[in-house]
Amino acid sequence: MFKIINFQKYTSIHIGGEHKVQVIHEIGDFSNFRIIGRGNNLLISNTPPALAILGEEFDYIEEQNGLLIVGAATSSGKLLTYCKKNNIAHFELLAKLPGNMGGLVKMNAGLKQWEIFNYLHSIKTEKGIFKRKDISYSYRHTKIDGIIYEVVFHIEKGYDKEQQKLFNKMRDNQPNLPSAGSCFKNPEGKSAGYLIENVGLKGYTIGDMSFSSEHANFLVNLGSGTFEDAMKLITLAKEKVKEKFGVTLELEIEVL
Ligand SMILES: Cc1cc2nc3c(=O)[nH]c(=O)nc-3n(C[C@H](O)[C@H](O)[C@H](O)COP(=O)(O)OP(=O)(O)OC[C@H]3O[C@@H](n4cnc5c(N)ncnc54)[C@H](O)[C@@H]3O)c2cc1C
Repeated sequence: MFKIINFQKYTSIHIGGEHKVQVIHEIGDFSNFRIIGRGNNLLISNTPPALAILGEEFDYIEEQNGLLIVGAATSSGKLLTYCKKNNIAHFELLAKLPGNMGGLVKMNAGLKQWEIFNYLHSIKTEKGIFKRKDISYSYRHTKIDGIIYEVVFHIEKGYDKEQQKLFNKMRDNQPNLPSAGSCFKNPEGKSAGYLIENVGLKGYTIGDMSFSSEHANFLVNLGSGTFEDAMKLITLAKEKVKEKFGVTLELEIEVL
């Protein structure tokens, strides 16, 4: 089954046209498609690859034998609410971390050293079940082939409200304008925001796209920003940072 999605509305950065997207209702071979989640880390070009999303069959939360079994189409907000209600620890970082569990695990999303992989037990893809120790992952990166359909976590009791407050505070300087989160990964031992600011691009605007004046590593849409303007800013930041600091910035946002 296909569905037409307007990516200007669907993605958090509010860029993209209307495209036909395959909706997946059961586990199978969808290798001709690029799977996406809630579009919180995406910059959709005018010519994206064939895209697919998971259907609501993959939106569920279950508990079995001390494990939390979560469908990959389940949103971070839904899992956070569940953990709060059932006094489950270690999911406090999901507050204000938008996405579906498939996207969050694929990106190893997180905040500093708190990452979604920390309490992961295993994942299910079309190729089978993979334990965390058998998956190659690092900061905002995993080598997961294929589509994640289900993710499983260890359960420990004790939802920590103070920890959640701390995470919220750590996000104080994040802008409220439409964005796709951090634009670039932090190079080892450095902050991408610091580098962008120090080449004079904090608040720099092309068309309706801008490196936020609140946090330079957030590429924000001021209203009717376009893919082309976003790419111009990305290229400019890469060039200037390379020239001044000799550092190659790597995109955290995914361009499709
Ligand atoms: C305001 C804001 C704040 C943010 N803050 C943070 C932050 O603090 N930390 C952080 O890490 N990120 C942050 N992000 C980025 C975003 O929340 C994460 O990258 C999240 O994991 C994206 O999930 P998604 O479902 O939207 O995935 P999408 O953006 O749709 O996709 C992201 C990637 O995951 C892949 N993918 C999606 N679903 C699956 C699946 N089922 N199987 C396999 N691959 C899949 C896609 O192919 C793509 O490569 C922020 C974004 C916004 C807008």
